[in-house]
Amino acid sequence: MAKIMMKTPLVEMDGDEMTRILWQMIKDELLTPFIELNTEYYDLGLEHRNETNDQVTVDSAEATKKYGVAVKCATITPNAARMTEYNLKEMWKSPNGTIRAILDGTVFRAPIIVKGIEPCVRNWKKPITIARHAYGDVYKNCEMKIPGAGKVELVYTAEDGTEMRELVHNFTGAGVVQGQHNIEKSIESFAKSCFNYALDTKQNLWFATKDTISKKYDHTFKDIFQEIFDKEYKDKFEEAGITYFYTLIDDAVARVMKSEGGYIWACKNYDGDVMSDMVSSAFGSLAMMTSVLVSPQGVYEYEAAHGTVQRHYYKHLEGEETSTNSVATIFAWTGALRKRGELDGTPELCDFADKLERACVQTIEEGKMTKDLALITTLENPTVLNSRDFIVAIRETLEKML
Ligand code: NAP
Ligand code: MG
Repeated sequence: MAKIMMKTPLVEMDGDEMTRILWQMIKDELLTPFIELNTEYYDLGLEHRNETNDQVTVDSAEATKKYGVAVKCATITPNAARMTEYNLKEMWKSPNGTIRAILDGTVFRAPIIVKGIEPCVRNWKKPITIARHAYGDVYKNCEMKIPGAGKVELVYTAEDGTEMRELVHNFTGAGVVQGQHNIEKSIESFAKSCFNYALDTKQNLWFATKDTISKKYDHTFKDIFQEIFDKEYKDKFEEAGITYFYTLIDDAVARVMKSEGGYIWACKNYDGDVMSDMVSSAFGSLAMMTSVLVSPQGVYEYEAAHGTVQRHYYKHLEGEETSTNSVATIFAWTGALRKRGELDGTPELCDFADKLERACVQTIEEGKMTKDLALITTLENPTVLNSRDFIVAIRETLEKML
């Protein structure tokens, strides 16, 4: 069979630890035998980030803007332990944070549903897609440890020198303080990406913040969503037979638990970070979740929602067998290849992506899976495969489909 050709390069961002091992296996077993892979490769592994003073992360984000589609492997966000482990020059920032800051936009995360992996929440029948705002708030904060008594103020100095001040707190002893910001333009594009994604996927959209307590900050999010909805989307939503629904974050959490799913839940940056982990693990596993960053300019970056699976990597280094689930990383590739196919007008690439996704689902539904899924499946006598054999099993299913 002739290999599928790619017109435009895909930006490939390699990563760290166990997911880096899976990355190579996926390419070797599931991609290069079938596709003439055309990628522009950026090594975001921590060693190379350190060598390039993290320039490689910035370059990869710029390349994503240029080509429009990227696929990213999970990467280490350094902490104190990593400083010693990798002998780092600096505690480099989270690559995801850097890339999101450059591309802006919204992260959409949806569970990959397979028969035999039932959600912990009995009434969840359909996927819940989390739309996470990818800019600002606590991820772009500034913090201070307050050593003792004193006054903390927020000060805004306009370009003409005029000042606005607000007392944060009159400290009588030691404490902590934090400053956060967001930008109207970014909130607007967050709102638009959510409304567009809801129309694209014909799902209702929920949005929630804590506007009763945060009367200016969170309320601005609420107001911007409502204004844009009323002005640009109300009619389109009616036509599509879908709704936009705003409520308080605590009310939303309660309703989500009682719902049957099948909607998009738009969350501020921090809520989205936390809630996507909750929703994905309740749906089965972090490794059964797709994740895509959609920028307001229509640039797409696909990744897995989980981390580098460090514990498995250390076992791997000691020569022990691992059973790490590669589904989310495979779906990052298929998402990116399908989008590349759509943009380039190469339907055979889209078709391949569809089949590879179906091959993953079918392999699991036939009872062949990694340990994380075997522990929670309702299928009887699942076959637990190691990291490589699971990928090989998917290849066998795929070859039968092609
Ligand atoms: P993690 O890599 O997501 O793994 C946490 C645990 O979840 C694992 O130990 C494993 O449980 C389970 N797990 C996650 N993915 C799995 C998979 N594909 N297959 C099977 N089990 C899986 O999170 P972490 O250990 O907190 O973080 C490790 C590194 O990843 C950190 O350096 C962090 O900075 C980075 N990180 C990167 C990203 C990203 O690039 N998007 C996101 C989050 C974290 P068991 O050990 O019980 O088997
Ligand atoms: Mg998280």
